[in-house]
Amino acid sequence: MIKQALISVSDKTGVLDFARALSAMGVNILSTGGTAKLLADNGVPVTEVADYTGFPEMLDGRVKTLHPKVHGGILARRDFPEHMAKLEEHNIPTIDMVVVNLYPFQATVAKDTCTLDDAIENIDIGGPAMLRSSAKNHKDVVVICDPSDYGVVLAEMKTTDNAPGYVSYETRFMLAKKVYAHTAQYDGAIANYLSSLGPDRSHATRSSYPQTLNVHFEKVQDMRYGENPHQSAAFYRDLAPVKGALANYRQLQGKELSFNNIADADAAWECVKSMGGFDQPAACVIIKHANPCGVALGVNAADAYKRALQTDPTSAFGGIIAFNVEVDAAAATELAKLFVEVLIAPSFSAEAKQILSAKQNVRLLEIPLGDGVNGMDFKRVGGGLLVQSADAKNVLLADLKVVTKLQPTPQQLQDLMFAWRVAKYVKSNAIVFCGNNMTLGVGAGQMSRIDSARIASIKAQNAGLTLAGSAVASDAFFPFRDGLDVVVDAGATCVIQPGGSMRDQEVIDAADERGVVMLYTGTRHFRH
Ligand code: 5GP
Repeated sequence: MIKQALISVSDKTGVLDFARALSAMGVNILSTGGTAKLLADNGVPVTEVADYTGFPEMLDGRVKTLHPKVHGGILARRDFPEHMAKLEEHNIPTIDMVVVNLYPFQATVAKDTCTLDDAIENIDIGGPAMLRSSAKNHKDVVVICDPSDYGVVLAEMKTTDNAPGYVSYETRFMLAKKVYAHTAQYDGAIANYLSSLGPDRSHATRSSYPQTLNVHFEKVQDMRYGENPHQSAAFYRDLAPVKGALANYRQLQGKELSFNNIADADAAWECVKSMGGFDQPAACVIIKHANPCGVALGVNAADAYKRALQTDPTSAFGGIIAFNVEVDAAAATELAKLFVEVLIAPSFSAEAKQILSAKQNVRLLEIPLGDGVNGMDFKRVGGGLLVQSADAKNVLLADLKVVTKLQPTPQQLQDLMFAWRVAKYVKSNAIVFCGNNMTLGVGAGQMSRIDSARIASIKAQNAGLTLAGSAVASDAFFPFRDGLDVVVDAGATCVIQPGGSMRDQEVIDAADERGVVMLYTGTRHFRH
């Protein structure tokens, strides 16, 4: 039974309605300066903590609730007679509910104009202390640090099956767990910020890579196993995933996603999201083992899919397929003919869902499109972690430099841009032949560029696709002319690559000699 609640919040979203509802249920409300004023101004009966403890808020709010009458009332074990006797001796009533959210430290330091003083004043002291006290004593205290939990708690307090004002142990435990995750994240953000400042404490020398790195993710699900059946696994997501990120997925049907499904779905989604800006509205990407085995643009989803499938129909079996447009009935009918693991799109039409529901094992994921990129990219190595910014660079037409005597035709330019866009998502060494807005041959993940080139051309032959007149992209420079010769022998007439090799001139001369167009991007897209 909750008799007394302490409310002290920086984010005042929803707090007025919540406090009003508590008050209507007979709960006595204690509150700090700003929160108390908001409640009182809106007619909710409230006692200021300062009046309650007999001590004023002081030191510019640094000391508001740090008082035995507050912490004693929270921390006393209700089932320990000695604890309760002590409260009585010191005239300390219990506090049965604590509603606190903290000074907005992360939002403050995210601002360019933030000074060290601003940051320090936004380190909350009393708030975390109360959250930690009440979460420790969750057996007797309800603690809320997230306004989205007000509704859950009120609903429980109102249920007539329980005594009025009752909140179950399960809920109190869930809320306590949330609190420690929250305060850990809060302190992590402070540590990250402070350790990102140089010894002169100035922002000018601030590094985005702090001395100690605290990262916090929340679990989405445990998995049956990891990359292999003998490995255990779970999927975590950013506390606030960027717009358009895979972790925002909504699964409409199908078996549980596996570790490899998620890794491949991410590759598919990242690639298809990047296919905007071409003269065709729809794009489709088919992924196997994290590499695109077919990418195409089309007038609609079905068209893009049928063309993507042509690149490598053998590998597409059991693949993961993503679209950047709605999957409609026509596309679903085509897709239903192939065995696929996962389908991803911004949306599936009602008819498409109906058609695909006949294949219940296929996992359907809806993800809103968006162009957010992860702030940091991680790679675990033995005993350490490599951290870098995500590869967010998209080469534009204006970045391209023609290095051969021959100039590209508009069609070649379009094919080269498409090939380059795909190559970014192919494991290095990557060689990608394209033509007419579709991949014709993909050579991925070889230890030598020349082997990737050979494999790409063999795969095109196997699929019955001609490379005559094709465009080819290489994710990094050709170290020698031999790679270029292989792609030209296979039929390519234009090439896009970063440039930057010691033997650039040898490769440019070779391109001129063979009568092909070559463009430099000035950007490399290694992907390991
Ligand atoms: P209010 O707007 O009600 O004046 O202040 C609410 C904020 O004060 C909450 O974010 C809460 O975590 C914080 N707070 C409560 N008690 C203390 C304290 O003793 N010291 C500090 N630094 N912050 C506190």
